[in-house]
Amino acid sequence: MAEIHLKTLAHSYSANPQSDTEYAIREMDHVWDQGGAYALLGPSGCGKSTLLNIISGLLSPSEGEVLFDGQRVNELSPAERNIAQVFQFPVIYDSMTVFDNLAFPLRNMKVRESKVQKKVLEIAEILELQDVLKNKAKNLTADEKQKVSMGRGLVRDDVSAILFDEPLTVIDPHLKWKLRRKLKQIHEQFNLTMVYVTHDQLEAATFADKIALMYGGQIVQFGTPRELFEKPNHTFVGYFIGSPGMNFIEVKRSESGVEFDGLKVSLDEGLQDFLEQIPSSNLKIGIRPEFVHVSVESITGSYECAVTHVEDLGTYKIVTLDLKGRSLKARLDEDQQVPEHKAYVSFPKQWLKLYVDEYLVEGDSE
Ligand code: ADP
Ligand code: MG
Repeated sequence: MAEIHLKTLAHSYSANPQSDTEYAIREMDHVWDQGGAYALLGPSGCGKSTLLNIISGLLSPSEGEVLFDGQRVNELSPAERNIAQVFQFPVIYDSMTVFDNLAFPLRNMKVRESKVQKKVLEIAEILELQDVLKNKAKNLTADEKQKVSMGRGLVRDDVSAILFDEPLTVIDPHLKWKLRRKLKQIHEQFNLTMVYVTHDQLEAATFADKIALMYGGQIVQFGTPRELFEKPNHTFVGYFIGSPGMNFIEVKRSESGVEFDGLKVSLDEGLQDFLEQIPSSNLKIGIRPEFVHVSVESITGSYECAVTHVEDLGTYKIVTLDLKGRSLKARLDEDQQVPEHKAYVSFPKQWLKLYVDEYLVEGDSE
């Protein structure tokens, strides 16, 4: 197991990059602690696989260093780095039995046969592959093949880290949940450093203690699922995490806070002071649908808006509101009264966030 440090790392697939846009990974500094369960989350094309392949050594970064426990490993092959990697599609030997496939990484490392037996059976049990151990891999279903592929990544407990690149893509939906639980169980049992790549926030949150959210070749936030939800530090995090994502409204400065279309929004004093010192005019307020306060009657500090749509999702409702031509989503619990036609919304200060040039700013009081 190792601490993995990506030091002033950047990568471009073109030999002679001319601008930022030619970088698949824009300069970053990031540390994955030893023994952590991490998710690398982000939309397709944001650089997740590139980053994973740089960690494993399949790809050599154009700039910066990869350090394992403080030692530079840039020049080392994946085998020398002692990394296990599981890919989106199964990588197995069709002509071998399931047992021999699982045993392969161990036998390769000259592990003694009694230990091979023990480990293979242990992993087969966790992945529920006991019944097919003697079968040739080519006769397996797609799900089973991917489970074998995952098993090959999980069978060694002496690896520096295990990297998963969207490993459940080909797996049947009902099995996905189960396998994710199993991965978590394996992580807890063996205390391995695991980095799990996915574009699915639910998958990331159920697997990982901490999520690195990637956007445009950068990790824009590294935190617990809760931190990403409650305190998105970039508008992209607010938008990407949550269902639906955070509401954002472009605003202008006013004497006691900010305003849009003549509606004043007051801010914390600390934020207000901060706002006076910065020149940028790219200002947005953000609030999650879960935190928008909706009432049928007008209350202090509330804004009148029109109810344009109500979506009933069983245990809660998503209400779409029109506030001076801006669309706003609010999430209402089952027992909350749903306003018809007209509603009043207010933004509790603790959940109202301010973004300057797309980044969260916080007052001194927090
Ligand atoms: P993700 O895994 O998040 O979908 P990738 O790491 O695969 O993203 O890709 C990041 C960016 O790098 C994308 O713009 C993609 O088109 C580009 N890219 C990926 N692989 C290559 C490659 N072998 N050659 C050139 N460009 C690539
Ligand atoms: Mg990918």
